[in-house]
Amino acid sequence: MQEKNVKNRKAFLIIDLQNDFCLGGALAVPQGDQIIPVLNECIRVFIQKKLPVLVTRDWHPEKSSHFKEFGGLWPAHCVQNTKGAQFHPQLQLPENTIIISGGMNPNEDGYSAFDGVDSKGVEFVQVLKDLNIEELYIGGLATDYCVKQSVLDAVKYGFKVNLLIDAIKGVNISPNDSKVAIKEMLNSGVSAITLDEMSKQF
Ligand SMILES: [Zn+2]
Repeated sequence: MQEKNVKNRKAFLIIDLQNDFCLGGALAVPQGDQIIPVLNECIRVFIQKKLPVLVTRDWHPEKSSHFKEFGGLWPAHCVQNTKGAQFHPQLQLPENTIIISGGMNPNEDGYSAFDGVDSKGVEFVQVLKDLNIEELYIGGLATDYCVKQSVLDAVKYGFKVNLLIDAIKGVNISPNDSKVAIKEMLNSGVSAITLDEMSKQF
């Protein structure tokens, strides 16, 4: 049981660790699956402390303006209820993981976790408020898109954000995209932190 009436709670947020973004997927992020062992270690820390683990998933309809075929930037990926949209099998999510689905609107990219909703349709920011969460640790894919947008929005909504610097990977359409994205996130007031440093904090 997770206690609900605690202030200042931390939570772990994993962005889009889905098959299509990993090796062999429709939109594989280079070395995307290499961060899975780090994410699993982080998950263990949060389980030990009885703190919530939340995951986002890209959850697109078949037709989306987000896809090249319909005027967007990307090959089709993470289409609802396909294998590509499933979480990577090596990711060791706890049973009570809260799943946030995004990109369901056929006219939007939905890069940010804050565009997503839980299984009951509750907006992500409200899900966090209901759990009394004030501080987020964030890792996942991809640094230069969904991670960046989610992190910047989290700051905008007033959350304290720790970016798990060894648990993110970028697409890098231009070679420096991830570096630029990390700089932008850090400039917004986010702390960069490694798994080791995080483990010591807890
Ligand atoms: Zn997408």
